Amino acid sequence: MTPPTQLPATHAPPAAASGPRTSAPGPTADFAIVLPLIAIGILGASTLGPLGLVAVVPAGLLLRRWWAGSSLMCRDHGHTALVDRARIFSWEIDSGTGRIVSMSGNVAEVLGYEPSELEGAEAATLIDIDEARAVLREEARLGADAERRSIVTVRHKDGHEVTLREVRLTPRREGLVRGVSVDISEFADALRFQAEHDELTGLANRSIVEQTVVDGLLSASGHQVALIVADLDRFKGINDTLGHPTGDRLLRVLAERLRASIDTMDVMARIGGDEFAFVAIGDLTVESASALAEEVHGLLTSPVAVDGLQLAVGASIGVAVSPGHGTTYADLLKCADIASYQAKHSGGGVAVFESSEGEASVTRQELICDTVRALDMGEFELHFQPQVDLQNGRVVGAEGLVRWRHPRHGLLAPADFFTAIEVGGHYHRLTDVMLRQAVEFGARMLDHGHPIPVAVNLGSMSFLDRRLPDTVGELLERHGLPGSLLTMEVTESDILDEKGRDAPVFEDLGKLGVRLSIDDFGTGYSNFTRLRSLDANEVKVDRAFVQGLGQTSEDAIIVRATIQLAHLLGLDVVAEGVETEGQLQELRALGCTTAQGFYWSAAVHPDAFLDLLADNATDRIPS
Ligand code: C2E
Ligand code: CA
Ligand code: CA
Repeated sequence: MTPPTQLPATHAPPAAASGPRTSAPGPTADFAIVLPLIAIGILGASTLGPLGLVAVVPAGLLLRRWWAGSSLMCRDHGHTALVDRARIFSWEIDSGTGRIVSMSGNVAEVLGYEPSELEGAEAATLIDIDEARAVLREEARLGADAERRSIVTVRHKDGHEVTLREVRLTPRREGLVRGVSVDISEFADALRFQAEHDELTGLANRSIVEQTVVDGLLSASGHQVALIVADLDRFKGINDTLGHPTGDRLLRVLAERLRASIDTMDVMARIGGDEFAFVAIGDLTVESASALAEEVHGLLTSPVAVDGLQLAVGASIGVAVSPGHGTTYADLLKCADIASYQAKHSGGGVAVFESSEGEASVTRQELICDTVRALDMGEFELHFQPQVDLQNGRVVGAEGLVRWRHPRHGLLAPADFFTAIEVGGHYHRLTDVMLRQAVEFGARMLDHGHPIPVAVNLGSMSFLDRRLPDTVGELLERHGLPGSLLTMEVTESDILDEKGRDAPVFEDLGKLGVRLSIDDFGTGYSNFTRLRSLDANEVKVDRAFVQGLGQTSEDAIIVRATIQLAHLLGLDVVAEGVETEGQLQELRALGCTTAQGFYWSAAVHPDAFLDLLADNATDRIPS
């Protein structure tokens, strides 16, 4: 983070304008006050005056209205007193020439300059032009509608610092920029406190966490910086059932408890609704940092009396310590987040980021950090498992199964990396890659004279994405693949789940001729009416049932019933996970027509699949 600039950014948020390090004098700009004026002047009158105040409004009233609308001052700070004691001056600048047109007399009281010393001066000659350009760029970036209030620190004629709050007013005539500035030096500390703290709990806010970590990393020679993030579990439930005021009170009590009990942290902050962060800098080890995290965990999770109720939340806490887990704020935060996610998945508690340095084994955290690179480098590839006609042994389908060709860990299966994809929020990106590869491969098989449907697996996140039919339609067109040669596999549980219920994409996919297959069939509680309304083409009998064949009679009953029901509904049936001759024979006896499994082949690279198709029969099928 770059240190906050001393010069006024015309509408920088207070956190930036009056951040914690602003007390250090910046580049000398005795006339920094004029900078915003120049900025406004150059940009012209079109960007002026959101407050719509007019010149004749007396200063006192003006200020009252201003502060009433101000998000910066909270009532506890006694704004009435502030208004009564405020020292204020107004100014006008010619937006064409950039010259100061007038300053009200009381500028002398605030800045020590007589108006005549400033009037007529070309504002641009009074300030550092590079800084002015920076402000202009910011102004251009924020656009004309951005808030026109700012806090600036300028120098009094005698050298001391004065904190001014500025508001632009509607100009009396075109080409004129007007504003008022109020000396709020006396209140600067209170404002700064507000800019740096969470209003609800009084703990620090996210920007302070970042600054402390950054400063700690820069200056901590021989020291470590520990970043601990805590996410409350079940807090949403409390908000939903008992109401937000109760939730707020709970957060305040927890914050108070933290403040009263922990003095080893450099920063304790609330950084989101139910998220806290802690920074400790010093002679730390991973062990001592996790001991701190355990202490936090104990404080956050022991019951709290709120509104006569005993409430308890859980907490999932992630710990990252420099330099092992990162030497930048972004890296430490990412690692701490990942660790807290890990903690959540193992039911709460404290988790330390597991560094993969020097380790041969794949850690989920490492993969999470690695997915973006892998997507960019094209390391995900679809392999295809043949689906076989049980009557004649011919390959009649190809199911695409994703693999990650990891540079260090070799070929990884979905179970190894799906969490990483989901946590990283890359699910859609991966789906796009898989869809493209599936359609490409379908077209390639077609080119080789094999009009065989290719199947892709879709999670609910994909089919809840309304863009899906368009994406699929474009792919089919680009590669000249008929929709009927593409199958979408969605699991029974995904599609029958609350969210999947009304997924509108299936109808559109159906219009493209795309086939719909219900995966892992038998593991949910399918409603056949629903299946029919979905217009599915196929069900896949889950391999759990197939593998029970010949062992338990229930499985045979389920498989038989499934096959019969599916056929009744006019659906194709594909049995999954066939590994033995016995399973194959039994499936045939039960009337199953198509199957896949290691008995024939695992999923193979597309090139190998084409070789397999060249034979287009497998000699392992008994006649
Ligand atoms: P699935 O759709 O049920 O895929 C079948 C899984 O069973 C595959 O595991 C496959 O390798 C494995 N399998 C096939 N034949 C046999 C067999 O005879 N015995 C045994 N024990 N296993 C067999 P894989 O590739 O690890 O995939 C696991 C799951 O990951 C898939 O289950 C599917 O739900 C998901 N998946 C795979 N690729 C994708 C993809 O591209 N997108 C999405 N959304 N999910 C995918
Ligand atoms: Ca599947
Ligand atoms: Ca399956």
